[in-house]
Amino acid sequence: MGYSFDDFIYDTKKAIDKVGVKTNEAIEHSKIQVGKAQLKGKLKEKFCDLGKLCYEMHETDEDYTGSMKKLLAQIKEIEGQIKEADTALGTPVVCALCGTKNSAENDYCTKCGEKLKR
Ligand SMILES: [Zn+2]
Repeated sequence: MGYSFDDFIYDTKKAIDKVGVKTNEAIEHSKIQVGKAQLKGKLKEKFCDLGKLCYEMHETDEDYTGSMKKLLAQIKEIEGQIKEADTALGTPVVCALCGTKNSAENDYCTKCGEKLKR
């Protein structure tokens, strides 16, 4: 039994499917990364609001503890979502050559091109 044309087509299709899956994973991955960046921005805003409240409380002598507790709960929630994103992204691989943190699915460093060891 030799390697037929059908075998060739079959192998090619399989290879293309594999690339397709990898691409989808990469898209999913970048979506999560964008989401995580947005969450980090939101977190910064909340901390800023918290600081403002703290300042107002000091200035006006009014009790904002209730609002602060609400903000703290929101901060906790966002932190949880960021953790979830991190879990989905996998443990980053640190490049041995330049120290850049690379996504778990990368084989080579995005900065210097060094092969990543794990
Ligand atoms: Zn590197």
